[in-house]
Amino acid sequence: MTKDHIIVVLKITEQCNLNCSYCYFFNMDNQDFSDKPALITDETLQQVAGFLANAAAQYQAKTVTIVLHGGEPLLIKKNRFEEMIDLFRFQIKPYAELYFYLQTNAVLLDNEWLELVKIKNVFLGISIDGLEQDHDLFRRDKQNRPTHKIVVEKIELARALLTDEDSRSGFGGLYVINPDANAQATYDFFVNNLELNNLHYVLPDFWHDNIEKAKLNQVNTYLLDLFSAWTALNGGNNVKIRFLDTAIKSLIGGRRYITDQLALQNNTVAITIRSDGEIAVEDQYRNVRPDLFNLGMNVENSTLPVFFETPAIQEFLTEIQSLPDDCQGCCFKNVCRGGNFLDAVHRFKSGRGFNNPSIYCEAYRNLFTHAIQYLLDQNVTLERLMEVLYDTNSNTVISV
Ligand code: SF4
Ligand code: SF4
Repeated sequence: MTKDHIIVVLKITEQCNLNCSYCYFFNMDNQDFSDKPALITDETLQQVAGFLANAAAQYQAKTVTIVLHGGEPLLIKKNRFEEMIDLFRFQIKPYAELYFYLQTNAVLLDNEWLELVKIKNVFLGISIDGLEQDHDLFRRDKQNRPTHKIVVEKIELARALLTDEDSRSGFGGLYVINPDANAQATYDFFVNNLELNNLHYVLPDFWHDNIEKAKLNQVNTYLLDLFSAWTALNGGNNVKIRFLDTAIKSLIGGRRYITDQLALQNNTVAITIRSDGEIAVEDQYRNVRPDLFNLGMNVENSTLPVFFETPAIQEFLTEIQSLPDDCQGCCFKNVCRGGNFLDAVHRFKSGRGFNNPSIYCEAYRNLFTHAIQYLLDQNVTLERLMEVLYDTNSNTVISV
């Protein structure tokens, strides 16, 4: 069996210097971080390196992407960070191309860290939730102090030291959409004030059990306002927003793009490795399927193929890769794929699992409708769009 791409969220710390009220890791139901080491040990890092080198060889993988995550990954000492990157390169590079991403709240970022990520070719994702009043509503430190000013300073520092030209080194902004915020003003702030051109917008961590209906209308309006802001400014050409990019490309790429996307996704395996070496599914499922974070499988005593052959994991993957019953008749199913085009976690409902359209279904439908109008205005032909939307040969097996 081959898999071209291995993606690993590696929890190098399971503690944080902030206490963001919405944090899916520390402030939701699954509190299992309290049983884990605050910082990953050198011994576990050695085991992770061996495990991933093995996995790359067993799957004949082309790439291994390691997302350095927490908690807050900058809580690790700089010399340990450097040694860790060198260790992974030494062990894994003989088998596959290796990419590093680091997701940080930026509070501890300084010149030395920036030099280090630049030298070590690590892409930096910086969390910032828009304007000061919106960011500081949620993203506060453990003494309840606001953090926006300091994060803005750190982004300016990063902008001065990291550029897109530095091969894969560079940085982008991660924003958890606040549906109460002003989408246009937030977008303007990112693009004009912070000069960010690589943005990753994620939807709030809700699913069918915990969403308030009123929020859905707000998300709907927010996504449409964002789409207008993005298309108005340079036609969105110079600013990459990952999910809008995916939506547009899916709509115009025809069967080939969808097939490529599916091939890419179906040829990708993604896992989380905890600070004690425990292996789990992707981190976003930790509060809806905590059982899949407690399988007793560790980098020390298992392999990646064995993990994916486990019946519970097989069952879970089949469930999230199947189109929900209620999406079968949807005209957007080829591009939305049951909501998986963003995140399958929003499909979850207790007792029914993932066999539901995303809670953001209406927002997605409206977004696709606006995207179609935008593409028609850009002289994409209706025939081409129809070919994608009504391609009955399109593989409706979906992936995340
Ligand atoms: S910085 Fe990230 S990990 Fe830390 S509390 Fe905030 S959301 Fe959670
Ligand atoms: S989630 Fe909604 S828009 Fe997406 S495929 Fe299902 S029914 Fe269609």
